[in-house]
Amino acid sequence: MEPFPSDRVQLPRNMIENSMFEEEPDVVDLAKEPCLHPLEPDEVEYEPRSSRLLVRGLGEQEIDDDEEDYESSAKLLGMSFMNRSSGLQNNMSVYRQNPNGSCSVPSTRTVVVCTVVFVIAFSLIIVIYLLPKCTFTKEGCHKKNRTMELIYPLATNGKLFPWAKVRLPPDVVPLHYDLVLQPNLTTLKFSGSVKIVVNILHVTQKIVLHSSGLNITKATIASAQGHQAKLVEFLEYPLHDQIALMAPEALLAGQNYTVNMEYSSNLSDTYYGFYKISYEDENSKQRWFAATQFEPLAARSAFPCFDEPALKATFLIKIKRDEKLSTLSNMPKKATTPVTNGIVQDEFFVSLKMSTYLVAFVVADLKNISRITNGTLVCVCKFCFVLPKLTRLLNKTKMSPNQQANSVSLKFVYLLHFIELIIAMGQKLCAIKWTEVSVYAIPQHVNQIGYALDTTVKLLKFYQNYFLMKYPLEKLDLVAIPDFQSGAMENWGLITFRETALLFDSNTSSARDKKLITSVIAHELAHQWFGNLVTMEWWNDLWLNEGFATFMEYFAMEEVFPELHSGASLLLMLKHYLSKDVFQAGIEVYLHNHSYGTAQSDDLWDSMNEITNGTLDVKKMMKTWIGHKGFPLVTVVRKGKIISVQQEKFLFRVEPENWTSDASYLWHIPLTYITNRCNFTHCTNAFLLDQKSAVIELPEEVEWIKFNVDMNGYYIVHYAEDWKTLIDLLKKNHTALSPKDRANLINNIFNVARLGRESLEKAFELIDYLSKENSTAPLTQALFQLSLIYSLLDKKGEQQLAARVMHRIEHLLGDKIDQQRWTDDGALSERELRSTLLAFACTHDIRNCRTTAAKMFETWMKSNGTVSPPSDVMKAVFAVGAKSNDGWEFLLKMYFSSVSESEKNKMIEALASTEDARKLIWYEGAKKLLMQNSLEGEVIRSQELSHIIATVSQSLPGYLLAWDFVKESWEKLTRKFHLGSYTIRNIISWSTSQFATKAHLLEVKSFFESKSEESSQLRCVKEAIDTIQLNIQWMERNLAKLQELL
Ligand SMILES: [Zn+2]
Repeated sequence: MEPFPSDRVQLPRNMIENSMFEEEPDVVDLAKEPCLHPLEPDEVEYEPRSSRLLVRGLGEQEIDDDEEDYESSAKLLGMSFMNRSSGLQNNMSVYRQNPNGSCSVPSTRTVVVCTVVFVIAFSLIIVIYLLPKCTFTKEGCHKKNRTMELIYPLATNGKLFPWAKVRLPPDVVPLHYDLVLQPNLTTLKFSGSVKIVVNILHVTQKIVLHSSGLNITKATIASAQGHQAKLVEFLEYPLHDQIALMAPEALLAGQNYTVNMEYSSNLSDTYYGFYKISYEDENSKQRWFAATQFEPLAARSAFPCFDEPALKATFLIKIKRDEKLSTLSNMPKKATTPVTNGIVQDEFFVSLKMSTYLVAFVVADLKNISRITNGTLVCVCKFCFVLPKLTRLLNKTKMSPNQQANSVSLKFVYLLHFIELIIAMGQKLCAIKWTEVSVYAIPQHVNQIGYALDTTVKLLKFYQNYFLMKYPLEKLDLVAIPDFQSGAMENWGLITFRETALLFDSNTSSARDKKLITSVIAHELAHQWFGNLVTMEWWNDLWLNEGFATFMEYFAMEEVFPELHSGASLLLMLKHYLSKDVFQAGIEVYLHNHSYGTAQSDDLWDSMNEITNGTLDVKKMMKTWIGHKGFPLVTVVRKGKIISVQQEKFLFRVEPENWTSDASYLWHIPLTYITNRCNFTHCTNAFLLDQKSAVIELPEEVEWIKFNVDMNGYYIVHYAEDWKTLIDLLKKNHTALSPKDRANLINNIFNVARLGRESLEKAFELIDYLSKENSTAPLTQALFQLSLIYSLLDKKGEQQLAARVMHRIEHLLGDKIDQQRWTDDGALSERELRSTLLAFACTHDIRNCRTTAAKMFETWMKSNGTVSPPSDVMKAVFAVGAKSNDGWEFLLKMYFSSVSESEKNKMIEALASTEDARKLIWYEGAKKLLMQNSLEGEVIRSQELSHIIATVSQSLPGYLLAWDFVKESWEKLTRKFHLGSYTIRNIISWSTSQFATKAHLLEVKSFFESKSEESSQLRCVKEAIDTIQLNIQWMERNLAKLQELL
């Protein structure tokens, strides 16, 4: 999943944006924490003790899996390593598993070849797999967990529920689901039946699985031998979203059984599960749209299932629908058959083995465009399944230099040649199939999906080449959903998007919109491998999905669209440390080893280590990053040619005098640096800092040194006594450093100043060179940092001082603002800069921004919306237009009739940016808050709410209003968006981020404490409180200084 990018909060603590750890922290907590599901009052009596304590006690034995042993002894010095990857890549062939794992009918010759090949491959694999695995681990074989005494909770009918844990019992695993659904878009209900083939691992009398809010009317169990299905009793335990089917007799280990259930439910009015969306069609008629969002825990509210990511199975989905609508699901459609009058049933092909949270379906009136793209290898025989493994095994054997050195026996060489021959024959047996890429939207948006299709095809090709692994399905659908909470969701073969993250309209979509659409598609496509093909074992490793998708998003963007630049990520740092080729080979090993299965963080590091062959211990290094929250601050002191470096945790809150800092934090940081002796990327120097402090001795004395080359590392640098040198360098010759390095220096000095480790004066001095700056990255970074300061002062009531900050900004950037053209031409980065600078200038009324914008707005208004302003300056133009009464009303009118989502997005931002508080409260006599209307989803969709709150909180008249709204609507907000969602996180962050007084701190604290325990425990609430404390501290420290400084 991907949060909607424009919602991403830009708070001081998030100065390294898009960190993999910022992805969905609270969602992960929700998946882990049992008590975050609302406890109905009448359920309490069934619970003999506090459920939290109960579960905690029982959960103890599970903890050992999570306990990491942080090794810290051996050193990783020396940056050289074996690069085996190039050969590996060239030789690696990729094959695809048949979706249902079966062979089509082969010819006699095929059968013979297949048999020979299969027997050999099978023997090899058996030998490898039969070796006791535990003999290779230093821990030896694990003993089985001791059984603990369980205290069972009570089911809804008062009987004992036979399972007390949040995780499902390990005795039963699902193999296959047959799911039939009939949603009714008139009654807004759906009915369904599910048949699940399960395999029994340990003899048991019960089958426990997930179900949430489903009215189950019938449950049966049948043995696989075709015995008659028997009606069984089922118990429900809503606190854990679990049901238990009680078998009349023991279910035998090793046997398969079929569970059958019939049920019904309502289409959800939240953004979770199988949910309904209302929208207006071209004729302004209200229509309904049904779609799914299952990640992380909502598949269970659409059908009873084993809703854990590791419990993968195959799915056969059938959906009954109105003949005028269409349906989509993960797999291509197999057949459509009539059911009754006007109702038909679509049947989809059986899916690959996949997790429940990736299942998806859409029922709606849709139009699409499609393109066939390059080939997918398809199995005609089971041998294809073994082929990739065999190829990899062969390559590994061939590549190992030890083998060559030890001059292996002749027999072994013959064996290798023989295997090579088999592989060559196998490749001939595998035919080629194509992947059809389609983009879908409601009919009035069908002319805005061309860009998404082109981009998807381009990126799909890039990923297939990079991973050396084809996209495994025959189709890939991307669907624009009219109301969608996050940015997009990576369901396998059916990616769902918010409309603004997929629809591109050449008249109204700006360069930034294009970047957003491209990056969201890149992110979700990467998930088709990272997340869908290889899935995290459990939600605590969600970063394996999200961290990777985010990394690949940046990486793909840079490769396919070099004009766009991206953010920092841990994996990007690792890629630079290991080199491109080694990193890529490691990814390939990882994907091949865990396809159609699950993985944990260690599996990824092990795959990388397989490539580095022990020369670099990636696992040891990365454990120091994954195990700790946050990131390090590296302090650099230069004395002649001796450079001392020291690391500590970067923490805003700690006072400088208590700075001894937490000793348990030690990162293995791959430092990079350049000096005046050699300041090009090709002569970047590297040093692994794996101690608290270390000394780097340079070959000769240098004039200056800059760490974290091109911002590729995940750390902040403080040049304790050396900022002055860098300030002078920027003043004299700023192009000695790359634009990324310059942006990095600006970011770092403001953060170090925020800590109180460096004076704000120095930070201001560093950006004095900006009038000479022409690159987008340093300019936007400086503007971001200064805006933060301006905004805090403004809200604190220090208007005079705020005005002086604005004056400083104008002094630095005024010329740059004047130079901007009010058009859509130029390179992407120029266009981005133009949008940023002009929107800023118009918002704060500097230079002549508002005059030009007002003229353009008038032209637009006079043309009744037909002569649009250039898309890159549209935001600035609308914001200025919204300042007048007529302009605001006109914008509101146009908002209702516009068919371009990116235009509407800019309109809603302009509407919410008004300084007339009455407009935020009233509109069109309907006496509804703009925010209230969005919450209820009446005219303004609920998906816009966090965006509206973000905008309202930025203005002085709005920021208290936004917080009041959040307080008053808290119950509705959490019902609509769910605690732990991105949306709630963003709403909390935005509505509180401008507070800088003790009174506000107290108010925010006590508000969340007065709500449920879950609310006050949310990580985003703690972060919000931290931010306010930080703001207070910043004010105390800097207010007086700023008076002098400005
Ligand atoms: Zn994602």
